[in-house]
Amino acid sequence: MEPRPLPDPDSEELAALVGSTSQRLLYGLLYRRRDHPPTMVELRLFAAQALGEDQSQTDRRVRELRRYFDVVAERRDGEHRYVLRGWAEHPAADGAPISLRRRAEVLAPQRCAMCGRTPLEHHVTLVVDHRIPQSWGGSNDVDNLQPLCEDCNAGKRDYFHSFDAHADEIRKAISYDEPQRRIGALLAAFEGKWVRSDLIGIVASAKEYQEDWQRRLRDLRFFGWKIEHQNRHNEGARVRAYYRATAIAPIPDDIPGVIRAETARRKAAGAARSARTLED
Ligand SMILES: [Zn+2]
Repeated sequence: MEPRPLPDPDSEELAALVGSTSQRLLYGLLYRRRDHPPTMVELRLFAAQALGEDQSQTDRRVRELRRYFDVVAERRDGEHRYVLRGWAEHPAADGAPISLRRRAEVLAPQRCAMCGRTPLEHHVTLVVDHRIPQSWGGSNDVDNLQPLCEDCNAGKRDYFHSFDAHADEIRKAISYDEPQRRIGALLAAFEGKWVRSDLIGIVASAKEYQEDWQRRLRDLRFFGWKIEHQNRHNEGARVRAYYRATAIAPIPDDIPGVIRAETARRKAAGAARSARTLED
């Protein structure tokens, strides 16, 4: 089957899809530069000069385009370049992506899932948030939706923006079936850099909720991974946990089998050690 052709930047088709002029201009740049995709620096300059926008808006603009189009950050010649590859696999349906009924169901607790504030007591406005953003492949399933106040939602959005350059790798990590493989792919994508625990928790729980994702993370050590942990106290009121992989190894096909075998081997080695100690 022929891939659906991308709309011309000046077409009615694009205008019907993307309401914002700035967004369409940005699309135009990505469209014209498909053979020589722009870097983030170029996109930001374009946003500042052609759109008169603050450069910090660029990440958000790109993310919004991803609702319809497959825009990926690819590393080429040592730089992340933004490539318009085609239509998104499941372009967002316009209008009501989440049904009113589902929206009401998600908002029913009337309490922000992050800070616990309520409209009644704290006069906050609640919005429906995707735990895993749609741009990372998150769905409109009720399990992936939560009520957040606007402050927490904006904070989360800014925080997630900072990973836009890794969006492809995160999307890939999320797509794996086993939590250990998802966590491993995420840590590997960050190439030894510290990863904040809430991002790991989200990726670990992408397919089914992981009550103890830290344990799944520790499982990686059975496969030869070295994981470091650090708590940081200097980020507001909360203590933040970070993890990084300083050594990675292939993750076996039979994850539970290898964990069982390795646990038994370590137990036997421990028993042999204590037996030797007794003999001495
Ligand atoms: Zn909140």
